[in-house]
Amino acid sequence: MKKLPDTISDSALRPIAKKVYEGIPVSAADARRLLATNSILDLGRISSHVRRKLHGGAAYYGVSMNLNFTNICALRCPLCAFSRDAGQEGAYLLAPGEIERRVKTAAAAGVDEVHIVGGLNPELKLCYFEDMLRRIKKIKPGIFITAFTAVEIEYFSRSEGTSVEETLKRLMAAGLGAMPGGGAEIFSPRVRKVIAPLKISGNRWLEIMRTAHSAGLKTNATMLYNHLETDADIVDHLSRIRDLQEETRGFKAFVPLPFHGENTGIAARRASTTGYDDIRIYAASRIFLHNVPHIKALWMYLGEKMAQVLLRFGVDDFSGTYSGEKVVHAAGASTADHGSEAFLRRLILNAGLKPVRTTADYGAFK
Ligand code: SF4
Repeated sequence: MKKLPDTISDSALRPIAKKVYEGIPVSAADARRLLATNSILDLGRISSHVRRKLHGGAAYYGVSMNLNFTNICALRCPLCAFSRDAGQEGAYLLAPGEIERRVKTAAAAGVDEVHIVGGLNPELKLCYFEDMLRRIKKIKPGIFITAFTAVEIEYFSRSEGTSVEETLKRLMAAGLGAMPGGGAEIFSPRVRKVIAPLKISGNRWLEIMRTAHSAGLKTNATMLYNHLETDADIVDHLSRIRDLQEETRGFKAFVPLPFHGENTGIAARRASTTGYDDIRIYAASRIFLHNVPHIKALWMYLGEKMAQVLLRFGVDDFSGTYSGEKVVHAAGASTADHGSEAFLRRLILNAGLKPVRTTADYGAFK
């Protein structure tokens, strides 16, 4: 069988393939080259090499529900179509009884994981979230809870007047299992100032993740693309994730998210990404982030067909069934907000891979 570099047709990518084949981390300049190429079949070969070494023929998915407990948010970021002011039409806050009802229904349907994120609602104190987690665990003790972005954790800790570490410890004691990677957006201060001016800085996001990792929590990391960012911003974002991962090993999955601009205050560069854009971003992420185990594609952001194709461009995690997703659908995503387990398995099997049901800790394989 030919060695990886010998299968690459674009001579500019061959030295990158050689590094990957030899287990040498690729450079920031290499990442720029990967983001600029039209040779997507080469991207597929290189990213699949990394993916195969880490995961063989497995593709992970979860049977999960989404709980977006409130859309009332103090920040009202221009990038966000989901949030509302208190009292505004469409504003909501789920009562604890309603949360229990939804979790009971999902638990009875066999859900393994609850994914919880919401707006920064000034009415809610830390004890509300501790109580929420305990109620959920009481309904199904084995359920895995992935909850609260670094932006939410910072807000809870400020409202409560406790440290980030103490806030995380209290939530972990109440049942928090892992943190999602939201709120990272793009670290570039220039872009952040426009798309989310009141949100914590990229540096602060990374600090909170460092604290979470040292408290023993595993987390994901996201990157929002297709708005005002440049390739240099993307490479900077990836580099900072990779550097922190060298230090903590706390990131489980990296999740690139294509921006949907409908109903937001940002005119997206383009109404939607192209297939080539998505492939370049996912493949470059897989190749550059050699130290992050999983690359996750949220099919409801990308469309299930594009997400399926990305399984051959570095993606090993197809995300979950996510019943009840509200955030990306508020911004115009046209995918169904719930895919059955059979639907996800079919897409994975049809790509020639082996579906593996799991949760955000990638531990409880079934
Ligand atoms: S993106 Fe998050 S922090 Fe910003 S307005 Fe929306 S819910 Fe609030």
